[in-house]
This record gives sequence, C-alpha cells and structure tokens, in this order.
Amino acid sequence: MRPVGYVYDPIYLEHDVAGHPESAGRLQAIVSHLESSGVLGRLEELPARDATEDDLALVHSPALVAQVKAASGGGGRWLDPDTYVVPRSFAAALRSAGGVLAAADAVLDGDLSRAFSLVRPPGHHATPDRAMGFCLFNNVAVAAAHLLERRGLERVAIIDFDVHHGNGTQDAFYTDGRVLYFSTHQHPFYPGTGDWPEVGEGPGRGAIINVPYPAGCGDEALMAAYRDVCAPAVRRFHPQFILASAGFDAHFADPLAQLRVSTAGYYEIATLLRELADELCEGRIVFALEGGYDHTALGWSVQACFDALTGNDFAPDPLGRGPPTRTPDVSALLARIRELHGLD
Ligand SMILES: [Zn+2]
Repeated sequence: MRPVGYVYDPIYLEHDVAGHPESAGRLQAIVSHLESSGVLGRLEELPARDATEDDLALVHSPALVAQVKAASGGGGRWLDPDTYVVPRSFAAALRSAGGVLAAADAVLDGDLSRAFSLVRPPGHHATPDRAMGFCLFNNVAVAAAHLLERRGLERVAIIDFDVHHGNGTQDAFYTDGRVLYFSTHQHPFYPGTGDWPEVGEGPGRGAIINVPYPAGCGDEALMAAYRDVCAPAVRRFHPQFILASAGFDAHFADPLAQLRVSTAGYYEIATLLRELADELCEGRIVFALEGGYDHTALGWSVQACFDALTGNDFAPDPLGRGPPTRTPDVSALLARIRELHGLD
C-alpha cells in the first residue's frame, strides 16, 4: 500500500506580516496539531521543490512574476489592500507552487497514493496576471497546467471548497475545457465572482461549475452541493487527476465568513472526493491548503481531511457542530444549477 503524503517547508512561515489574518501562525497551528495528535507520524513527508519561472509561466504572465519578484527584492510592499509581499515572499511563493507540483508528480508517478500540500501563501485568487486576496501565484492552477502540458493528462478536475470563490482558478481555465472547475462559496462575498451563470466559454463552456451559497448554510447544504452537483459532474467529466483547493474558512468558527460548516462536514467532503478519485482516476488526488483563519478549526479540519485520505474514522473535535441556526433552503438553487449543467 503506497503511503499518503504531505508537503511542508519552514520557508512557508517566512511570508508573514504581524496582525494579518493570512499569517504564518495558521500553518504553525496546523503542523503542531498534526504533530500532537500523531497524524504526521502516519504520513510520508515529501520535500517541496521550487517552482521555476517556466512552471509559473504555464498560468501567469511574466509581468506578474516580475512584479512579485521586484516587490520582494525591494524590501516588500502591498500589492492590494489585502495582499502583502515581504522580502521572503517570492521565495516562499515559488516553494508554495512547487509544493503542489511535487505532490502532483509524486502521486502521478505512484510514489504516494494521495497527498495534502500544506503550503502558503495560498493561491486560488491569483489570476493569470494579478496577485490578490492574500494570493501571489495560483498553486493549484499551476499544478493543473503542469499535469496537462507536461505530464500528458487530458482532463484534470479542481474542486474548491474554500469559502471564497477561486476567481483566479476560474480565469485561468475559463475557455480551456481540459479543467473542470467546481466551487462552493459564500455569495455575494469577496471577490464578487462565482455566480451560477458563470459556466465557461468556448471549449470551456460547461466546465466551470459555481455553487454560490447565501450566508448561514451549513454541513447539510454543502454536502448536498457535493453529492448532487459535484459528484455527477465529476463522474461525467471523468478526470485523470483531482486537485482540491482546500480552504477551511467555511468553518463556523472562522472569523472572516458565515458559512456554517463543521469539522465533520469537512471530513464528509474529503471522503466524497477521495471516493471519486478512487472510482475515476486510480485514487489520484492532491489537496492544497488555501484559506482558513481560526487556528483551532484549521488544525482539526486538516486532520479530518488526512483521516479521510487515509481511510481513518472521523476524530470528533471539541468544536462540535456549532450552535443551531435556521439554514437557508438551497434546493431550488441546486435544481437550477443541475438543470443548467445537464445533470438531471
Ligand atoms: Zn478563502
């Protein structure tokens, strides 16, 4: 049985600004939780590599790469009101993208059965030519392009369960068709994109699937989107590889958003994605860390994903299911999205 792996590198902690929600402390909290709970000991550590500028050019303009490099070299600056660059950010961002590339190659080559890249800075808001929303380079999009352009694959699915829409990933593949991009996210919300009529164009038409949810949805509504829209769409697309943009800011404890997912909900989503990979593409799946800003919820939620990837039972977490609330009815929205994408 090939091992389940993880990628981590201490350079990821060197991209940091005191008081910013997208902090090194997020990843420190994840790693210390995984160490103290014994999860890391069951996994194979895979070294990250540095993405090259050629790797980034699979998705990004040379101008964006030069901008981030120059901002780091110049001592750091803010690229937008949310997105900082410090002197070590360019090096961290290269290894963040490279951390997902290394995992994708290791899984495709059969060295690992599945993997989770514990990387930062995160990536899914970074468009081909713009860093934004805490993201410098689009780690998952670069890995998908690498699998398609360099590793001979023809179909890659990207599943994005971060609470924000992955506008950068959508932009990168909007007219492509070789990438199925499925996203659940709070809407309307940052960055403003991801409404359900956004379905792709040209050869990409139908390969972009957005499930925009109102604030207050919880585990049940989220699982309905995965069971009733994601799973049939992924089965029809029949990917050769699945990448997951794994953000945990939909957790009810998260300070930045209001979807009300629990750690158990993340376990269910991760289990469904692992089962789809087993059914459709020889188990090939790589998770990559995106957002998530409550440090306790992050540790338990990442553990839940590893437990799903390794086939372990869910380890009940102290946060539980959260306080009960009235949740919006999303059945009409899901029916409309299923109809739009021909999933009925
Ligand atoms: Zn997010």
